[in-house]
Amino acid sequence: MSTDDLAAKIHRGAMVVDAHADTLAEVAHGAFALGRENQVGHWDIPRARLGNVGVQFFTVTDFAPHVPRAMELVDFAYRQIAAFPEDLRLITRYEDILDARNEGKIGMLLSIEGGEALGGELGLLRNFHRLGVRAMGLTWNRRNELADGVLDARSKGGLSEFGAQVVAEMESLGMLVDVSHLSEPGFWDVDAIANRPYIASHSNARALCDHPRNLTDSQIRAIAARGGVIGINFCPEFLSEEGNATIEDVISHIDYIARLAGVEHVGLGSDFDGISHTPKGLESVARLPQITRELLGRGYGEDAILAILGGNFLRVLEACMKPAAAAHNIPSTHQ
Ligand SMILES: [Zn+2]
Repeated sequence: MSTDDLAAKIHRGAMVVDAHADTLAEVAHGAFALGRENQVGHWDIPRARLGNVGVQFFTVTDFAPHVPRAMELVDFAYRQIAAFPEDLRLITRYEDILDARNEGKIGMLLSIEGGEALGGELGLLRNFHRLGVRAMGLTWNRRNELADGVLDARSKGGLSEFGAQVVAEMESLGMLVDVSHLSEPGFWDVDAIANRPYIASHSNARALCDHPRNLTDSQIRAIAARGGVIGINFCPEFLSEEGNATIEDVISHIDYIARLAGVEHVGLGSDFDGISHTPKGLESVARLPQITRELLGRGYGEDAILAILGGNFLRVLEACMKPAAAAHNIPSTHQ
C-alpha cells in the first residue's frame, strides 16, 4: 500500500477531535453558511466531512457584552443543529460522542472562551452547563473576574478566589478546564488545585516559537503529569517566528510535545475561523488528512497517529465529563 493510501485509510478510521474553532460566531455574523462548501472561512459541514471530523469544539463566545452574546451563540448552535439534523449532534455526555459516530454525525461540543461570559456568577456557569456547554477557557488574553490572561502579564496575577471556585465547580459538573490564554501564574494556580486532567485547547510549544500564547516546557510537562492534552494551534504566529508557517511547522510542534511529554498528551486545536490566515497546506478543515500523511512521513505509527488525531482528547473527555456530583443538574429533556 502506498503512503498516500495508508494515510487515507488511517485517517478514515480515526475519531478526529479538534478542540477549538470559532466558526459559530463567524457564521452567526453572516460570513458564510455551515451547510455548503465555502470559498471563505475554514469550517463548514462539507469540508468537515472531507476532514473526517468526529468531534468539533465550538466556542460560543464573542465580543462584549459577553453574557448575552454567549447566550445568543448557544441558541445559534442549537438552531444550526436543528437546521442540519443529519450532520450535527450536540455532545453533552461522553456516550453522545459514540452515538454521533454511529449515526454518521459530527459531534458539536460547546465551549466558552473567556470566563467573562459568567458575569462573575457561579450560577451562570451552572446554567451554561445545563444548556450543554462542556468546556471553558478561563480567560481570553485580558484579565477577567476569574484570572489574568496572558496579555495582562504586568500584574503577575493568577486565579482569583472566584476563579478557583469556578475550577472546582467545573470539575464537579463534568466540564473541561481549558488553560489556553491564561497567564502563567494562573496556569500554576490551576495546576495546584486541579483534581482532574485539564487541557490547553489551542496552544503550542514556546521552545519552538517564543510567543506568550505558547506553553513553556514546564507547563507542557505539568499538563501531561495531570493526564491532560495540548491541542496544537494552526495560527501561523504561534507556529513559527519567521512567519510563512506550513503544515510542517504544525507537525514539528506535535513532535516536540510528543517527545517532551509523551504522544498521549498532544492533539489538535486548530483555531479555525479564529485565525486570519492559515499555514500552507492546512487551508481549511478539509485538509486535516494531510496531518496524517505528514505524521506517517515522520515515522509515526498508526496507534500514535490515532491518539494525536483525537484519541487523546477522547480520553480526557471520558475522564472529565462524568459529573462528580449530580446535585446541581436538573434532569434535562434534550439529552
Ligand atoms: Zn483563542
